[in-house]
Amino acid sequence: MIDKKLLALLACPACQGDVEFKDKKIVCTKCHRNYPIVDGIPVLLVDPTEI
Ligand SMILES: [Zn+2]
Repeated sequence: MIDKKLLALLACPACQGDVEFKDKKIVCTKCHRNYPIVDGIPVLLVDPTEI
């Protein structure tokens, strides 16, 4: 489980929107991209082809 305080510090790398924890992933509330959590660490990387 991801710490909510940590989540509050994170922002979507694509649009700088707020992110939330959902279905074991990090989901941006603004652009709805989702990011995996690997070994308990959110991987907030944007696929360069998506930008
Ligand atoms: Zn976003």
